[in-house]
Amino acid sequence: MLKRQTSGEVACLSCRQQVSVKETRCPHCGRKNPSLWGYAQTLQQFGLDLGVVSLITWGCIGLYLVTLVADWQNIGMSGGFLGFLSPSLASLVAFGATGAMPVFALHRWWTVLSATWLHGSLLHIAFNLLWVRHLAPDIAYGYGAARLLIIFILSGATGAFLTSGAGEYLTGFLRGAPLAVGASGGVFGLFGALVSYGHATQDTVVRKTGLVYALVGFVYGLLVPNVDNWGHFGGFLGGLLLTQLPGFHPLQPEKQWHWLGAVVLFLLTVGSVVFSVVHLWLLARG
Ligand SMILES: [Zn+2]
Repeated sequence: MLKRQTSGEVACLSCRQQVSVKETRCPHCGRKNPSLWGYAQTLQQFGLDLGVVSLITWGCIGLYLVTLVADWQNIGMSGGFLGFLSPSLASLVAFGATGAMPVFALHRWWTVLSATWLHGSLLHIAFNLLWVRHLAPDIAYGYGAARLLIIFILSGATGAFLTSGAGEYLTGFLRGAPLAVGASGGVFGLFGALVSYGHATQDTVVRKTGLVYALVGFVYGLLVPNVDNWGHFGGFLGGLLLTQLPGFHPLQPEKQWHWLGAVVLFLLTVGSVVFSVVHLWLLARG
């Protein structure tokens, strides 16, 4: 499936200028290994996001189906549209839901990585994936595919971290979620990245678009019950701050370490889902 190119030219993975596939360093942007050992062309067939958007989409859909099937007798169908086809709470917790309960009561702190890929209902996953598919290709265009994945994963984690902390330490109106799942922290991180992109390139339209998306999202969250506002806010803040770092300036091309970071973060995420299940199994065995 992965075809390796051994001769000719290829678009550099970072700056997209043509380079020889044998080049060890891109003469245009300085990126090491610009052809990714000859695999760049295969990845580029997926588009500018190099398959990251599909990875997020199918990762979420796959895990949603798994959490449904794992406890199919307790699939929720009530609560109107918002609750239609909901995996059971037990199933969501088992596969790595985050929030004050898992993080503080069960000490499952790694769930800040897994929860982004889990969803509470059909409408929940549909909404989030519509946003991912609408926005992530633009972020890949602006920042590159590896940085897109880093931004998505890390802002999902900052959202999960903030809502878990607010769920444990704040009360009343300000209380965070006892239990939280969903990609919206990552999506709000993409809003933050959009704001940074507009700022860095002095494109006020892009900056305003990012701000308006975030604002509409927050207002929606305040009006609709059971929306994880801390998760949204934390995701937005995470995406915004991360993309202020020097390594995330959109006008500087991606480097090899971005890819290394993206792969490591993704593997840690897969590990966090697997370990969530193993951990609960070990707990149940006593
Ligand atoms: Zn280059």
